[in-house]
Amino acid sequence: MTTTPPQQDDESGESDLDSALVTARRQLERAAAHVDVDDGVVERLKHPTRVEQVSVPLERDDGSVDVFTGYRAQHDDVRGPYKGGLRYHPEVNADECTGLSMWMTWKCAVMDLPFGGGKGGISVNPKSLSNDEKERLTRRFAEELRYVIGPTRDVPAPDMGTDAQTMAWFMDAYSMQQGETIPGVVTGKPPVIGGSYGRQEAPGRSTAIAAREAIDYYDKHLEETTVAVQGFGSVGANAARLLEEWGANVVSVSDVNGAIYDPDGLDIGAIPTHEEEPEAVLEQDAPETLSNEEILELDVDVLIPAAIGNVITADNADDIAADIVVEGANGPTTFAADTILEERGVHVIPDILANAGGVTVSYFEWLQDINRRKWSLEEVNKELESKMLDAWKEVRTEVEEKELSWRDAAYVVALSRIAEAKATRGLWP
Ligand code: NAD
Repeated sequence: MTTTPPQQDDESGESDLDSALVTARRQLERAAAHVDVDDGVVERLKHPTRVEQVSVPLERDDGSVDVFTGYRAQHDDVRGPYKGGLRYHPEVNADECTGLSMWMTWKCAVMDLPFGGGKGGISVNPKSLSNDEKERLTRRFAEELRYVIGPTRDVPAPDMGTDAQTMAWFMDAYSMQQGETIPGVVTGKPPVIGGSYGRQEAPGRSTAIAAREAIDYYDKHLEETTVAVQGFGSVGANAARLLEEWGANVVSVSDVNGAIYDPDGLDIGAIPTHEEEPEAVLEQDAPETLSNEEILELDVDVLIPAAIGNVITADNADDIAADIVVEGANGPTTFAADTILEERGVHVIPDILANAGGVTVSYFEWLQDINRRKWSLEEVNKELESKMLDAWKEVRTEVEEKELSWRDAAYVVALSRIAEAKATRGLWP
């Protein structure tokens, strides 16, 4: 499998790979058809509040200067500050940030978090930067965005190409300029400076919880369930480990190089994650190896695509043999594939619900920062479990009452909350 960027533009009409913006607008329209919502509200939600574009000059280690373009898209803040990641990737652009910020609006709303959606980043290849350059670039970016972000305005987080250290530099630069330590300006920081325990594992944990609930809903038992996980990275490895711990039989996992498969079950705890030891999956003992296409087509109960976007497409949707797909990655299923899976009776638990543990624990981190009170890991995991179950029940009600797919139901829950907030606040002036 070739590594595709997570969001491909489908406006060429040559493929069914979906761009984030196209997907976000399409989902809004689909959800609006099932919700009693004013057309004006839908119209407002099609547009971001603002997309900030900034130039970020960087003095390279050799003394030369390069200028990069940075963005922060702020989609909607009717329910609270904008929230979403900052990515460093060559493909970052205004449209992608806008689409992903809309996605964050739905994700925060479906989880009932008091946040709206934001997303940003710098169009840069992070691998081309030394550590010092990355620090200087991040500090300057924080300064350029200083007037549009803040703990009650817009709260960034790590994303592709950025990590806890990046957030630490960002928080430090912002705090130095503001004249006081303001940990709540970003989440995903190291715990020693206000980060939350359990933040890194949270998207994998929520994906596992979503899988567990779906397995139960469809009258299966975890102990008799087989699972395949594409992408043994942060999300995939944490989801796989938890599901194994809870009794499921994880028979196949993959990384960018390929998959290992044992129909009797793998020893998941023994496989280092992408973070611990990059690309170690194929080095493990297993009876069979598979390609990254083949793992998607395994006859398992639950398939968890947790690597990159657009991997289940119109080309392979007919070959997906799993009964349940739980989206650990963002946007792994294209719109065309989604329709095919729905017609075939494959239940897809959408990304905005399944991997929302990340932003949910970011919310817990923000609360801890504002209250200056640290939570234990047990507290974080207990609260995450409770938030996930609440969201699951809300979405399940829509699935049952309106006979919707899980994806449409999740968007209906999100849109209903946002629309009600907009209607209650009204349009000013
Ligand atoms: P990661 O870098 O930790 O792991 C990615 C894994 O996918 C690695 O095992 C890598 O080898 C594998 N991979 C990369 N390209 C691949 C390809 N072409 N085919 C198959 N495998 C490939 O990333 P992550 O943080 O686990 O994120 C994975 C997905 O989950 C992304 O879509 C991301 O946007 C989404 N997500 C991440 C978080 C988070 O906080 N980490 C939160 C929500 C959603």
